[in-house]
Amino acid sequence: MHEIVAQADQFMAPTYKRQPLLLTKGRGYRLWDARGREYLDFVAGIAVCNLGHAHPKVSEAVCRQSKALVHTSNLYYTAPQTELARALVQKSFADRVFFCNSGAEANEAAIKLARRYFKQNGQPHRYRIVAMEQSFHGRTLATLSATGQQKVKDGFEPLLEGFDFVPFNDFEALNRAVGPNTCAVLLEPVQGEGGVHPADGAYLQAVRRLCDERGVLLIFDEIQTGMGRTGKLFAYEHFDAAPDIMTLAKALANGLPMGAMLAREQVATVFGPGSHASTFGGTPLICAGALAVLEVLEEEAILEKCTATGAYFRKALLDLKARRGSVRDVRGMGLLLGMEIDGDGEALVAGCREKGFLINCIQERVLRFAPPLIIEKEAVDALVQCLDALL
Ligand SMILES: *Cc1c(COP(=O)(O)O)cnc(C)c1O
Repeated sequence: MHEIVAQADQFMAPTYKRQPLLLTKGRGYRLWDARGREYLDFVAGIAVCNLGHAHPKVSEAVCRQSKALVHTSNLYYTAPQTELARALVQKSFADRVFFCNSGAEANEAAIKLARRYFKQNGQPHRYRIVAMEQSFHGRTLATLSATGQQKVKDGFEPLLEGFDFVPFNDFEALNRAVGPNTCAVLLEPVQGEGGVHPADGAYLQAVRRLCDERGVLLIFDEIQTGMGRTGKLFAYEHFDAAPDIMTLAKALANGLPMGAMLAREQVATVFGPGSHASTFGGTPLICAGALAVLEVLEEEAILEKCTATGAYFRKALLDLKARRGSVRDVRGMGLLLGMEIDGDGEALVAGCREKGFLINCIQERVLRFAPPLIIEKEAVDALVQCLDALL
């Protein structure tokens, strides 16, 4: 075993079950390990490196900004931060943006904002949030309390109070759960960690109407689905149902740590000066990276590519399902695809790795494919052939 691997296992908190792979370099959708072996990447750092590894335009923007100004705190203004906020507002339903450093922090901000909105509007009893079973919203105490999976919560009780859970895509259950103390409904348009489960369009539209009728805020966690992953910049654009608050992170800066919470004017403005903050949130360095990401998405027609390759990939997996009885289900949107199998998902992950393909397994039996959006058909063909042989 490589010395770095042995030392990592000795010195790091043992929070991760890692693949036995020491990565040293990435370009596009390819990665190399310390022995110089090449891998095709269908993980993208968990739906993060949407433009691929070491995209020249993003690297260049970050290098340039690192020599000008890295960090100022939010006591001052900087141009990259302002430009990024304006761009995200122009491209979404939202009117204002709060920047932070991760997905969990973005969801923390959303939870705080939803509670404060009703406190400020004379309905302090409204603090409960209805969230979904099998959801994932992060690992901080508030966001794991909002997460609908027991394994994330084990050992950390008492949790933050005020979350109710209903099955995903079950409108009647939601209708019953939204009560006089509810401030918000929180969901992922496609549940990612929970097993790649997309929302039904009619369901999301009904949820939007329900929130309007009951005066409840609708929060979409687009941390995994945002920034082009599903073929639109934001997944809600597929459904004709926009939220009041949306959270982003993962692919926002193509691998630099960044989160954001976006909201409509009337909602966002209940965060007054001093009500919420982040020292690192929206540094000029990382905002310069995120601005480059937005430029590349347009210049290289990444959304169109994602839609086309996603459809091709999906069809190839469905063909595989028709041939192999052990494939239970194929689902997802764009290039966020899941294939549920009978049997041991981790064994397939290992088998693929040995053949030079990185894939990920969630919920023990769901293979998750979230490659860089620039992945090519030849790479998809090669992976599907490998899966076919292994199955
Ligand atoms: C990854 C993820 C999070 C948590 O993001 P972190 O940056 O790890 O805190 C929250 N929600 C969803 C939907 C995610 O996929």
